[in-house]
Amino acid sequence: MPLVTSTEMFKKAYEGKYAIGAFNVNNMEIIQGITEAAKEVNAPLILQVSAGARKYANHTYLVKLVEAAIEETGLPICLHLDHGDSFELCKSCIDGGFTSVMIDGSHLPFEENIKLTKQVVDYAHSKGVVVEGELGRLAGIEDDVNVSEADAAYTDPNQVEEFVAKTGVDSLAIAIGTSHGAYKFKGEAKLRFDILEEIEKRLPGFPIVLHGASSVMPEYVEMINKFGGNMPGAKGVPEDMLRKAASMAVCKINIDSDLRLAMTGTIRKYFAENPSHFDPRQYLGPARSAIKEMVKHKIVNVLGCDGKA
Ligand SMILES: [Zn+2]
Repeated sequence: MPLVTSTEMFKKAYEGKYAIGAFNVNNMEIIQGITEAAKEVNAPLILQVSAGARKYANHTYLVKLVEAAIEETGLPICLHLDHGDSFELCKSCIDGGFTSVMIDGSHLPFEENIKLTKQVVDYAHSKGVVVEGELGRLAGIEDDVNVSEADAAYTDPNQVEEFVAKTGVDSLAIAIGTSHGAYKFKGEAKLRFDILEEIEKRLPGFPIVLHGASSVMPEYVEMINKFGGNMPGAKGVPEDMLRKAASMAVCKINIDSDLRLAMTGTIRKYFAENPSHFDPRQYLGPARSAIKEMVKHKIVNVLGCDGKA
C-alpha cells in the first residue's frame, strides 16, 4: 500500500465520532514504536514531520523510514508536514512525496492567511495532496513555533466559513485552549468546547484539528523527575477532554510531547538502573517499547480509532 491522504480517514472519523492520531516523528525508533502500536490495534495513522524534524533527520531519511513502516505493517499511513511556514517549504514536501501539508498562516492578518493558504491549496490539490490550515493562535513552544500567552487567541467562529470557502482547505486547526509543549495549564485545564460546538455548526461535516493535545502523561513526568530530571508543574490536556473532542468535529489530534516524555523518561530510568551500559540499542530499545505502549493507549483509550484501518 502506498502513502494515503487523510481524506478517507477524516470522513470515517467524523461519521464514527473518533479521531486519528497524528504523531510527530524524528527518528527510526519513534517511527517503529508508533507504527508497531498501530499495527497491533489495526489503526489508521498520520505521521507528521515538523520543519525542525526535517532539518534534524533529513527529508529523504524520514520519507524512506515511513515507506519502510508501510511495507512492514500494511497500514494506511498519511505523511504530513506539521506547521509549514511558507509556500516553498510546503511545495518542497509535496514534491518530495508527502501526502498532506499544513500551512500555518495563523500569525498573519486574516486576508493574508487566506492568500497564503490558497496558494498552497492550489498547488497541493494539483498534485493530489491535502492541506490543513489554521485559524486562531495556540500559546506555547514547539520547534520553530513560539507564541507567548499574550499573543495567543481563540479561533473566532465568525471567520471559519469564509476561510474554508476562500482557501479550499481540507481541514482546519483551531485554538480552543490547548497549547504546544509540556506546560499547557497553570491552573485547572480548560478547553472552550462552546467554540468547537459553534464551529461544528458553521462547518457541518468538516474535519477539525487539535494541536498541542498531549496529555503530558503524569507517569512519564514522574519518571523523569524521579531519575534526575526536573519538570515541576508540567501539565497537559486531560484525556477525557480529548475523548470528548474526538467524539465531536475533531478528526485529527496531534501528539508530540507525550512521545518525547515517554522516550526521555524511559532512557533516564534505564541509565539510572544501568549506569555502566553504553550500547545505544540497550536504551533505545526500551524507549521504543515505551512509545509503542503509550501510542497503543492513546489509540484505544483516547482516540478510539482502533480497528478502523
Ligand atoms: Zn502544532
